Amino acid sequence: MRVIHPKRALAAAVLLATLPLWAAERTGALLDDYGDVKTTKQDKAIKKEQDEIMAMLVSGNQYHVNHMTHGKDPRVMVVSCADSHVTPEAVFHAQPGELFVNRAFGNVVDKVILASLEYGATILHCPVLVVMGHTDCTAVEGAIQEHDNPRTEDQWDSLNTKALYEELEPAVAEVEQAQDESAAQTGNRLTGDPFLEAVVRANVLNTMHQIRQKSPVLWHLEQKDYLKIIGCIYHKDNGKVEWIKE
Ligand SMILES: [Zn+2]
Repeated sequence: MRVIHPKRALAAAVLLATLPLWAAERTGALLDDYGDVKTTKQDKAIKKEQDEIMAMLVSGNQYHVNHMTHGKDPRVMVVSCADSHVTPEAVFHAQPGELFVNRAFGNVVDKVILASLEYGATILHCPVLVVMGHTDCTAVEGAIQEHDNPRTEDQWDSLNTKALYEELEPAVAEVEQAQDESAAQTGNRLTGDPFLEAVVRANVLNTMHQIRQKSPVLWHLEQKDYLKIIGCIYHKDNGKVEWIKE
């Protein structure tokens, strides 16, 4: 009889204990558009698209292999959104290896990204850290909608999205409060795109604040002038980067 190693038995028990948590999570309307592709005609169309994408990735990599240049060492760390139109290497016309890029929807930072930045600063010795937000950020847009019409606890389809919007909420609340004060004093209030852009700006500053507050390592390096932390906004319409003064 095979003897199960105690460590494996423990791992299996942990896996079994965590599965119901995952299974119990609500997916709700997020999956409404998806049928069971294994039993519908959609199956072939989706499979064809997936095959085409894989062929594109393989041929793209072949082009990369044929034209590969060995990159330089990174000198700049970047925190930016996952938006496919905001590509730090393209935005800053950087060569392979020059940028140490960390991307997350809404350019927020969590412990994993902070660890990555600490590596970039202390091991790779990057002397500059850029936090880049961008115009028309749908993550920030979603957080504004959530602020205006907050969901109750049982209305969330994804607890991961809830966590993201919680990270973005301080920026929305800050701009909302500033606009309330402005409206009370002058009668003017930002709405639409200008309001969104103001929240994007506040969110960049908030991410910079989070970096300093949650990473003593990065805060100390900045205090000693070994690290420059700077924020900017990428304008998707004309490609320009606007540097933010703190
Ligand atoms: Zn974005």
